[in-house]
Amino acid sequence: MMRFTLPRDIYYGKDALSVLKTIKGKKAIMVLGGGSMKKFGFVDKALGYLKEAGIETKLFENVEPDPSVETVMKGAEAMREFEPDIIISMGGGSPIDAAKAMWVFYEYPETSFESIIQPFSFPELRKKAKFIAVSSTSGTATEVTAFSVITDYAKGIKYPLADFNITPDIAIVDPELASTMPPKLTAHTGMDALTHAIEAYVSTMNSPFTDPLALKAIHMVFDYLPDSYNGDTNAREQMHYAQCLAGEAFSNALLGIVHSMAHKTGAAFSTGHIPHGCANAIYLPYVIKFNAKCAEARYADIARSVGIEGTDAECVKALCDKIDAYNVKLNIPKTLKEFGVLEDEFKEKVAAIAVNAVGDACTGSNPRPITPEEMEKLLTCTYYGTEVDF
Ligand code: FE
Repeated sequence: MMRFTLPRDIYYGKDALSVLKTIKGKKAIMVLGGGSMKKFGFVDKALGYLKEAGIETKLFENVEPDPSVETVMKGAEAMREFEPDIIISMGGGSPIDAAKAMWVFYEYPETSFESIIQPFSFPELRKKAKFIAVSSTSGTATEVTAFSVITDYAKGIKYPLADFNITPDIAIVDPELASTMPPKLTAHTGMDALTHAIEAYVSTMNSPFTDPLALKAIHMVFDYLPDSYNGDTNAREQMHYAQCLAGEAFSNALLGIVHSMAHKTGAAFSTGHIPHGCANAIYLPYVIKFNAKCAEARYADIARSVGIEGTDAECVKALCDKIDAYNVKLNIPKTLKEFGVLEDEFKEKVAAIAVNAVGDACTGSNPRPITPEEMEKLLTCTYYGTEVDF
């Protein structure tokens, strides 16, 4: 038996935030990040709407990027003190991911973090509160997904938590919030969304329920990302919807090794963090060439749906060329070397990174199985820009 789960309601379009006026409840805690939502006036706007709805509110602020287990536990404690029946998280991926995890420990104070690391092992939620997610970046789509990434800094490990219990009840996809993203973030998060949709479409978990969402998201990213990057408001709005569709697809079809590689290389090198979406954008064409041995027809489907013609093999090649061309337009490097990773450090670390990447939770649904040796070869191709021919 398979399952397909989305939020009960998705409010989208200009002024979607104002739906908060109509929310039923008594007390809402609002979980926020570093302050940009406050700076741009969206927090005050939301608080005004909640006041109109007669809801008492409290803020939990300053969730850091890549939120920690400690922040999650602190937030859960604040929730236990305030006893909200609504949790609202507003911002980029980090505050929303953190709030999803806080929700678990609010409802189940005795539960340990270790006990929810195993995918799809969460206790039944919604005994105390419902969850509303308001996204401000156009990439992670955490407002509609069953995932949350929490970092255990003591162990130096990022844990991707997964369970349909943490799929929000309500997602608010208001383009005005995404209009504040700077160009580089727009490029990276946009390519993250494209990767979500392409990986979901070729995943071993793909289904007739997820395919249309993935294909539509792919079309929209190709149509709107360059203009969104260049500041076009309409394109920015369409990208906010496209990333949400991609999220609906991958929350149910899962991902593949582009994400495994991005997860395990993001913080691996001394030359600096590789932003998630940038890493995905670099790896995507190489992974398509590797996976094509097992999923050529699926990639050709994607290519044909965006107007590419030819044999399956020609379509796959042209799809990779198209992605390369978008990366050029978006000022994204083609290789890890070009990104600035040092050659000696890469060579020293690549074998261990390959083992970690194969062990990543996203590897299981990749269309082609991969060994650590093959992963090392693939990563080496992404470093030097050499052809994937194995
Ligand atoms: Fe991603």
